[in-house]
Amino acid sequence: MDDRVREHIRVAGVVQGVGFRPFVYTLARELGLTGFVGNDVHGVFVFAEGPPSLLARFRTALSEQAPPLAVVDEVTATAVEPRGDETFEIALSDSSGQRATLVSADSATCVDCLAELGDPGDRRYRYPFLNCTNCGPRFTIVTDVPYDRPLTTMARFEMCADCAAEYHDPADRRFHAQPVCCPACGPELRLTDSTGTVLPGDPLDRTVAALRDGGIVALKGLGGYHLAVDAANPDAAATLRKRKHREEKPFAVMAPDTAWARALCEVDEHERELLESRRRPIVLLDRHADASVAEAVAPGNRQLGIMLPYTPLHHLLLAATGPLVLTSANLSDEPIAYRDAAARERLAEIADVFLCHDRGIHMRTDDSVVRSFEGRELSVRRSRGRAPEPVRLRRELPRPVLACGAELKNTFCVAKGANAFVSHHIGDLENYETLRSFTEGIEHFERLFDIAPDVVAHDLHPEYLSTKYAAERENVELVGVQHHHAHIASCLADNGESGPVLGVAFDGLGFGTDGTIWGGEFLLADLADFRRLAHLEQVAMPGGDRAVKQPWRMAVSQLLSCYGTEPPGELGVLRRNEPQLAALTRMCEGGVNAPRTSSAGRLFDAVAAILGLRDAVSYEGQAAIELEQLADREERGHYPVALPASGTLPKSDALPDSDALPDSEALPDSVFIDDGGPPLPVPAGQLVRAVVEELLGGQRGEVIAARFHNGVAELIARLCQRLRDSTGVGEVALSGGVFQNMLLLRRTVDALRRHGFRVLLHSSVPTNDGGICLGQVAIAGERDRRGECSPELG
Ligand SMILES: [Zn+2]
Ligand SMILES: [Zn+2]
Repeated sequence: MDDRVREHIRVAGVVQGVGFRPFVYTLARELGLTGFVGNDVHGVFVFAEGPPSLLARFRTALSEQAPPLAVVDEVTATAVEPRGDETFEIALSDSSGQRATLVSADSATCVDCLAELGDPGDRRYRYPFLNCTNCGPRFTIVTDVPYDRPLTTMARFEMCADCAAEYHDPADRRFHAQPVCCPACGPELRLTDSTGTVLPGDPLDRTVAALRDGGIVALKGLGGYHLAVDAANPDAAATLRKRKHREEKPFAVMAPDTAWARALCEVDEHERELLESRRRPIVLLDRHADASVAEAVAPGNRQLGIMLPYTPLHHLLLAATGPLVLTSANLSDEPIAYRDAAARERLAEIADVFLCHDRGIHMRTDDSVVRSFEGRELSVRRSRGRAPEPVRLRRELPRPVLACGAELKNTFCVAKGANAFVSHHIGDLENYETLRSFTEGIEHFERLFDIAPDVVAHDLHPEYLSTKYAAERENVELVGVQHHHAHIASCLADNGESGPVLGVAFDGLGFGTDGTIWGGEFLLADLADFRRLAHLEQVAMPGGDRAVKQPWRMAVSQLLSCYGTEPPGELGVLRRNEPQLAALTRMCEGGVNAPRTSSAGRLFDAVAAILGLRDAVSYEGQAAIELEQLADREERGHYPVALPASGTLPKSDALPDSDALPDSEALPDSVFIDDGGPPLPVPAGQLVRAVVEELLGGQRGEVIAARFHNGVAELIARLCQRLRDSTGVGEVALSGGVFQNMLLLRRTVDALRRHGFRVLLHSSVPTNDGGICLGQVAIAGERDRRGECSPELG
């Protein structure tokens, strides 16, 4: 009896451009199977023939032993008629039909390539652009799909005979590695001045010399230009800061290896994994007090952003220089520079020399930023190494969705089926360059993943450029999504859950459904609906946007709110700003140019200004970050807040018993109907009063800052307890930029768990506005499923 069977096997996921076919080829030959493997627009297909037991092993190995860059979503098999093939082969690509395969993210130089880089006998010895199917540029060089050399920025380089032989050899590590190249045929380094004139000598040696001399080098990397200086050189770091203008954000540091990272910072096991992962993000780490890094790198910060080399060029450079500051090359608010001529023009006043090369960057992509929390990765900025990997949605979308994100730290998302392709970091949509990056990025993603959105989700803020962009899209149905609902939905989607949850959304500013500015919100939410149960008490934001840039204004507003017209005049913040107090008081009282806000971010700003940390900031959240830095980690006391009577809370008899709710089913719509009166205002001003009293009593700022943080955490937990009593919901999702504050997050999670809550946190998308687009997708999808999407609702 013939026991041979033949199967048609399909592999879906990130399986192209990652060495998957050679892997299948080798595996099939090892098992003695015959047939062939190929790429098509759906992914990888295999026809394999052999004994059933071996085919079963083969299928298991396809997902379990896949190459490092592959992400296998699904392996399916159907039995077909045996054909009696005698060998196993690799079939040629087929690029017809609908695109469904995934472009992989850029990946750090692999161990095999590193070994070649350091091997004097190898033909790619010290070649700054070597790569293979397991590593190298992907997303940043892809111009279109299918992923094939002519559709990358490597198209202009014709392979030499040696490279071509490797490229066509199924047994070679470089089989169909589209960016394959060598010194004979690939890109070249060159060092130029700002006019583009090539400087004589070895580009790498001269760059190393320039850095040793304290120079500033514009360095063309994987996703754009960086500005580099010697991290230990105080003058160089200070000059870089000065030339970048009013820029006070900490600079990231690239360390040559993990040992160097440990010399600068505390690195635990999980943090080491993050540093060394092929995504190579910037990892925010606690710095050693005596770390040999110039003060101007991260002034006054307890942490440093550290990354390890991720291109061969970085490896060569860092081995010769030691730790370098490597910061995105841009002027303050513009996106990262990525085209050579534009980079030279924009950076002419900043960089002394330009180390560049002739491999084009098609999609500019900043470095990703992460931190570790309880052994879990928390994304701070999701970009290089992550984009364009999809976030998998719990349920398939009825129709394709584009979500336009928010305004600050913008990302967008195009989604189809269960794949949500969250974009790389775009930036603050405040200038032409960023807006162009946004619109071109959307076009690119729609083409790359063959997604023509029927539904477009946007923020409710009418003035956001992302909202205006949505309004101009034709032949789509618009879905307006409230900012803080999007935050909570994003956290749910990030955890593969659908609610209902109690959502605590604390951030800077977001447009509310009542036309006021929200930002300290307690919501009952699922993926379709939400109800605002409580919020921080509103105060005036005198001067509107100016109050964001000048936290002392929020301090005055909070003080007026707490003390009426007689705040304690001996407070430094009032004395320092005396000349403007009268005008500001009139503004707050009259409500002219003083919108009301419940923002938690602005509350932190106010307390920072009261403690004298700073009256003005150069970027959003700066004062709050300094307040966190100041706080004494050992201090456990907290300022109490007396919650008002719960008369205004929804009555529990009006709501279903949550135990009776089937798991992960949406609450009935009635729960979201506002039948329990207006949301409860939370008297957060009591925290401000406590801060003022302790400050005037001579308490140390470190202790006050800590007790304030602990007080906010305690307030959140106690209020959630109250909301659990009235809603029966015992899960809390935390989202919003304020939860980037690690002290607050630590204390809040602890307090909630003490009260018996299960707590959901972000992981793969940021808790800040960079995660908004994922929430918008989840909400638009859910509303579409319920038939609630229509042009009228937009
Ligand atoms: Zn490699
Ligand atoms: Zn070559």
